[in-house]
Amino acid sequence: MKCITVSASSAYDVLVGRGLLRDAGRIVRAVINAPLAVLVSDSTVDALWGNTAAESLEAAGFRVLRYVFPAGEASKNTAEYVKMLEFFAENGVDRSSVVVALGGGVTGDLAGFAAATYLRGIAVVQIPTTVLSCVDSSVGGKTAVDLSAGKNLVGAFCQPRAVICDPDLLDTLPEEIFIDGCAEIIKYAMICDRELLDALSGPDFDREEIIARCVAIKRDIVCRDEFDNGDRQLLNFGHTLGHAIEKLSDYKISHGRAVAIGMSVMARACAGLGICSIRDADLLIGKLETFGLPTGCDYAPEDIAAAAAGDKKRRGNTVTLVVPKAAGNCILNPVPVEKVTEYARLGLGGRV
Ligand code: NAD
Ligand code: MG
Repeated sequence: MKCITVSASSAYDVLVGRGLLRDAGRIVRAVINAPLAVLVSDSTVDALWGNTAAESLEAAGFRVLRYVFPAGEASKNTAEYVKMLEFFAENGVDRSSVVVALGGGVTGDLAGFAAATYLRGIAVVQIPTTVLSCVDSSVGGKTAVDLSAGKNLVGAFCQPRAVICDPDLLDTLPEEIFIDGCAEIIKYAMICDRELLDALSGPDFDREEIIARCVAIKRDIVCRDEFDNGDRQLLNFGHTLGHAIEKLSDYKISHGRAVAIGMSVMARACAGLGICSIRDADLLIGKLETFGLPTGCDYAPEDIAAAAAGDKKRRGNTVTLVVPKAAGNCILNPVPVEKVTEYARLGLGGRV
């Protein structure tokens, strides 16, 4: 079985390989000698992959407890978080136990935050099951739940003991969700890897190679700035405008699609301002189109800029925009909030 190991930090590895779920028990056992594993999944993933994961953990000698919550972002809240903690406490989960988060970003964030805080922190292993969670949320150590006031407002930095990424699990993913996660892959390529951008010819890519490459990119950026005060902001390419577009659509436009629009707007604006070439902006936009991702929207630039001004990452009157200088080379550009309107206006002015 082919397996690519990406050392995410000195502390843990991300293993990428088809069929690895069946081997999950052995892999978890190698990093933690726990008697008890709590397998946490949402209702959809549990029905599809829960038994395979549980059987593998049992075969490796773990006593397995299963905890299932309703699928969807709506579950990533404090009530579900407390429910999970109560379940841990009622069922004898202790410091020697391991939480195994099997699912997408919602499961990883919710179970990761529960593990980070229960008894002041117990071990967690991530088994991502969406493109987004394979290449993004399972790596980097951020965990969080949402508040009514906004997404990811309560959380903790907590590194997993291991990440087990089995691309076969993506076979059951609805196409729409699969494609949504691909926007983040294109994002990594545009930020810092021109070769990766060239290699992406559509949704039928070499999953193992591409996922491993994205994990390595995120690892390198996170290593330079674990707590998100500098270079980690590069991962926000397309996200300042993307979040604004998600919000304006009342979350009817999904995250990946909104980010695709955000990246396109930034690339067109930067081409208009002479920061990057028209050819490189078009290259990005062409790649997004190859994946069936949107590259424009009907919202007014002023509305997008106003929604972006409320961004959580704003510091005082400054928003740090991620701007492409070339395909595969983005830089941080702190600008006054008012300047965002100019980018949105330029970037929405049609194809460059
Ligand atoms: P998700 O976990 O809700 O998964 C999306 C949907 O796909 C769910 O309905 C789920 O049940 C279903 N699903 C998952 N795997 C499946 C499979 N293999 N087969 C069939 N269906 C499957 O959402 P997501 O897009 O994976 O993650 C989004 C979340 O990630 C957001 O809450 C976001 O804030 C978070 N996030 C966190 C970080 C981080 O660094 N911690 C980074 C990016 C995003
Ligand atoms: Mg994102």
